[in-house]
Amino acid sequence: MSLRPWTYHPDLLAVPVPRYTSFPTAAEFGDGMGTAGLDAALGDVTADEPVSLYAHVPYCREICWYCGCNTGAANRAGRLDAYVQRLGQEIEAVAARLGGRGRVQRIAWGGGSPNALSVDAFRRLSARMHSAFGAISPVTSIELDPRAFDAGWAELLAELGGARVSLGVQTFAPHIQAAIGRVQPQAMVEETVAALRTARAESINFDLMYGLPHQSEADLADSIERSIALRPERIAVFGYAHVPDLLPRQRVIDATALPCVEARFRQAELAHDLLIAAGYVAIGFDHFALPEDAIAVAAREGRLRRNFQGFTEDPADVLLGLGASAIGVFPGALLQNEKNAGRYQMRVAAGGTAVARGLVRSADDRLRGALIERLLCNGGADLAPLPELASIRERLAPHAERGLIAWEGDRLAIMPEAAPYARSIAATLDPYRQPSARRFSSAV
Ligand code: SF4
Repeated sequence: MSLRPWTYHPDLLAVPVPRYTSFPTAAEFGDGMGTAGLDAALGDVTADEPVSLYAHVPYCREICWYCGCNTGAANRAGRLDAYVQRLGQEIEAVAARLGGRGRVQRIAWGGGSPNALSVDAFRRLSARMHSAFGAISPVTSIELDPRAFDAGWAELLAELGGARVSLGVQTFAPHIQAAIGRVQPQAMVEETVAALRTARAESINFDLMYGLPHQSEADLADSIERSIALRPERIAVFGYAHVPDLLPRQRVIDATALPCVEARFRQAELAHDLLIAAGYVAIGFDHFALPEDAIAVAAREGRLRRNFQGFTEDPADVLLGLGASAIGVFPGALLQNEKNAGRYQMRVAAGGTAVARGLVRSADDRLRGALIERLLCNGGADLAPLPELASIRERLAPHAERGLIAWEGDRLAIMPEAAPYARSIAATLDPYRQPSARRFSSAV
């Protein structure tokens, strides 16, 4: 397959933009939401509606310096036990409030690292989740840290039957691993993959990164080639976002060793080209999958979605967020639990639930959210319903002049080689974004 090269237009990437894993984004959440908001949202769930669950484990065996997740060190067993107990309590409280409505079809475990928990603790928690929500054979996905993976976890995954596993790999280059505080020999990843295959994991995802300190194009190409050799069904390639003012743990990363914006752009292009050449299909702007994987099939059939876990084939409009910082998604609301693990546990102990922030989605929010999702997932959307279409056309004139987009009537199409500009293009539909705002990560 011949690929059209990406063209670097720094002026079109100058403004940081959200990742649009929701709309409105979490930056718009307010403090005024609580259990009443949760009850109202749960009350709108109909009897047979597909429901997905996301449970957050905010602990890791070791903390990586680059990490932007809500997580802390799992350095005391008592700390984890207390969290697991409260998470179980929240699971049962939310399930009781849902009152048997909805059909739970998917359960995702993320963090942090769910495998920071002991195998037994996780097994009990998972059983509690299935029982509370009456989940029968749900699709289960789980994020795993290869550094904390062992035979017990492999056994547990075999019991779960066909789980989808996401592994934090990031880079195979030892000098970069040392510079980001995540030392993880290649043999450890290979052994984890082999154990997951034996456990019949349905699909394996690798998270990789570009834009890391001291990372050259050769380093990135080497990590991509080593990944391809292990043939994970999915590979996500994320740009490292260096925001030490927001994430103090990143202060130990040498900012002078980071690639510049143009180098990041070229790295993203290199990763894309290598993966396409190896037979992977581009999914949205940062995921890749083998053509037979469920997410690639969904993309081909126009069923790709975007949620807090990135691009997904999960069709559910209702996602219940459980655990510290987890975000629940409902057609009419976005609701986030208390972020701090200690305060989360106090809230659950006091009342069973932990919603602390969020927003009610207006009809306009829902319309724009759907259009942004179509743009990012399908590469195009009919913008006729937007009252400010003329001004959107004006703002996108530089993109049109450079062949990054095309208009067919009121339908906006993003060209395949304009993937790095997709989020910036989507941001023109976002009335919450001011051109001068700098709260988000680099556009590439
Ligand atoms: S293992 Fe993952 S979640 Fe945990 S600190 Fe490292 S990057 Fe963050």
